[in-house]
Amino acid sequence: MAIGKRIIETAMENGATLAGIASMDAIKVSASHTIYTKMGDYTGIGTVKGDDTLPDTQLFTWPDSVKSVLVIGLSHPENKPELDWWDGRGTPGNRILIDIIKRTSQQIENSLNVKTRKIHYYVEKGGVFLKDAAVLAGFGCIGKNNMLITPSTGPRIRLRALLLEDEFHSTGPIAFDPCADCKVYCRRVCPENAMDEKAPIFKTIEFSERLPGRDGTYNREICNVRMEKDVTESKKNKVGKQPTIKYCRKCEFVCPAGKKAGGQ
Ligand code: SF4
Ligand code: SF4
Repeated sequence: MAIGKRIIETAMENGATLAGIASMDAIKVSASHTIYTKMGDYTGIGTVKGDDTLPDTQLFTWPDSVKSVLVIGLSHPENKPELDWWDGRGTPGNRILIDIIKRTSQQIENSLNVKTRKIHYYVEKGGVFLKDAAVLAGFGCIGKNNMLITPSTGPRIRLRALLLEDEFHSTGPIAFDPCADCKVYCRRVCPENAMDEKAPIFKTIEFSERLPGRDGTYNREICNVRMEKDVTESKKNKVGKQPTIKYCRKCEFVCPAGKKAGGQ
């Protein structure tokens, strides 16, 4: 059996909902990696700011030996909202993903003799843009809500990746675009109107609307206003020392692609 297929099976056996492989060369020229350095210095919730466990000097400097990337996804259904709750150390869902990556890395190094490199979540610390990597690995497409949408989970999925020091056949991208026939509920449900118009930076950047990018009609700074409110709300309602933060997921849960995937 091809080694790439065994790698994917190993990740699935370890609990991944989806797993696939993307070419590192394709990731390097994908939409987010191409435009990121033109976007200025954004520092809001969910960015590298405040995480000083590693220096911020590893932006897009992956070793030449890395040829492919294993991407894994974990379903975050509506009936398990706690997977997404921020508890000061991260989220339970992300800890599961990290554990799947750890076990998969050990197993494929030991039994398949493939050298791996674990990566940080943040691109500034050596990570890759996970949504671009997931599209290239064949998970689905970027939706008009700026999230990864897959045929089996809609946008209700979270991602991690593992670098591989061998060339493997890429498992994507796939032809999938649920937004084409949709009434675009995501952009209408946003309480902050974060998707009402193209973000200013995208008006000045020449940007392809081809997958895996969309069209820049999502303003992260405006969405961040909602996240700040969610933090304040959580602090008000906290039980114990550490508040559990439940960030807005309205544009995610309203998406019919997620509902079709079992309503979970
Ligand atoms: S709500 Fe519709 S337009 Fe928005 S991401 Fe989902 S399918 Fe696409
Ligand atoms: S997460 Fe909430 S605030 Fe942010 S874009 Fe989606 S609906 Fe709007």
